[in-house]
Amino acid sequence: MADEVIGAFDAAREPSIGIVGAGIVGLAVARELTRRRPGARVVVFEKEERVAAHQTGHNSGVVHAGIYYVPGSLKARLCTRGVALLKAYCTEHQLPYVECGKLVIAARGDEVPRLDALYDRAVANGVPGLRRVGPEGLREIEPHATGLGAIHSPGSAITDYAAVARAFAAEVAAAGGEVRLRFPVDRIEPEGERVRIASGEERVTVDRLILCAGLQADRVATLAGDEPGPRIVPFRGEYLRVKNEKADLLRGLVYPVPEPGYPFLGVHFTRRIDGTVEIGPNAVLALAAEGYRWRDLSPVHLARLAAWPGAWRMAARHWRMGAHEVYGSLSKRAYMKASQRYFPEIGLDDVERYGAGVRAQALDRDGSLVDDFRIHRLGPVTAVRNAPSPAATSSMAIAEHVVDAIGLHADHQLPERVPPREVRGRLRPFASVYRRPIWAASRSSAAARGSGRRRHTR
Ligand SMILES: Cc1cc2nc3c(=O)[nH]c(=O)nc-3n(C[C@H](O)[C@H](O)[C@H](O)COP(=O)(O)OP(=O)(O)OC[C@H]3O[C@@H](n4cnc5c(N)ncnc54)[C@H](O)[C@@H]3O)c2cc1C
Repeated sequence: MADEVIGAFDAAREPSIGIVGAGIVGLAVARELTRRRPGARVVVFEKEERVAAHQTGHNSGVVHAGIYYVPGSLKARLCTRGVALLKAYCTEHQLPYVECGKLVIAARGDEVPRLDALYDRAVANGVPGLRRVGPEGLREIEPHATGLGAIHSPGSAITDYAAVARAFAAEVAAAGGEVRLRFPVDRIEPEGERVRIASGEERVTVDRLILCAGLQADRVATLAGDEPGPRIVPFRGEYLRVKNEKADLLRGLVYPVPEPGYPFLGVHFTRRIDGTVEIGPNAVLALAAEGYRWRDLSPVHLARLAAWPGAWRMAARHWRMGAHEVYGSLSKRAYMKASQRYFPEIGLDDVERYGAGVRAQALDRDGSLVDDFRIHRLGPVTAVRNAPSPAATSSMAIAEHVVDAIGLHADHQLPERVPPREVRGRLRPFASVYRRPIWAASRSSAAARGSGRRRHTR
């Protein structure tokens, strides 16, 4: 049940557009809607007692410049645009934003060809100011780092995503929208051409519903009748903090060359906005959807995961990496062994455990970890099914993309109905009638146009 509201909620007023999830993606979408459609009634429904309670409030705070992503992918396009929008927003709203720069370092000989390939990809993505540097060059940028060579991205930055999310929420409220906290959406049903969402006894009907539920993306989407895949697999990312004057050894961001075929960027050194220097995150399979600690274990979650064929295929493919991550999680010494290749002066006694975040990573039925952002459209419902890193960086661009594609016309009428598809028994009627991927919607609309964080600790 909702018992707390940011903004003036008028119970007699029926909202037109609902958003589930007050993380940075949901709030960016809400803000974009209030800007483009000042008359629209926008309400964000959040199950927790505060905004940014999950991924948005537990990440590394890095503004990615767009180095890693497959050219032309949604990630590549929306990251580049997202950086520009976020930088301008932080400047305008006096939110923290520091262009401290990033080095991606090859520490072993076999990583050098992968570093070169990454450089070519980053150039193809139009990342500004890139340089490929050798061992001497990298020490000019980070005097205490070591490696065989590096990519330097001077535009990579740090920010405070929870503060950005709070600023989005404040803007939504100022524009007449609402963020309803402690409103865990547990049912989503069609009501004519509209959508009814419910939390316990409370019901709200909206014209459009956008699902941005992060770690619960699959569960909430299936409430609306979407297909079960991709499933969300939660990966806990644990951090260490450099606890003494050794923190001064790092100027900006230092990343490894990512492992091929793996969606995570690897344990990195991050200078945070508050001056803290962190090492992490690793990627350990969490035992509950919001499993911030080893002891957070949900048999229901594990049973659901075990019932998904993709989970077994993923395990067969990545068990070696998984075992390595578990070992690093249990042993600080093992965790630090790899990190010391980049900063040999930072030793085991210089670090302490510093909490964790949990990433929502989508997993297809065939066992592949979904790399790109993925968004489904089910008539009046739009479901963000995969928004992993760099979704915080890209949040404002994701919001533009989603709002472009939900098909709200200037007169606020419902859009033309998507041609009906064959009804499949396991989907609810409106879902099966309307379902089509959002990228199809956005392509056709483009053609028509002609063109202070909180961390859970162990
Ligand atoms: C350890 C870690 C490090 C990361 N580092 C970076 C980084 O440096 N840079 C970067 O760009 N990205 C990073 N990311 C990724 C980034 O944080 C996420 O991609 C982004 O925050 C996703 O935002 P979101 O709004 O989709 O999800 P979330 O922030 O998780 O928000 C989803 C919200 O939905 C709510 N919700 C769920 N179910 C319901 C329901 N039934 N009813 C109501 N509300 C519901 C949840 O409570 C939650 O508040 C990192 C992530 C992690 C975990």
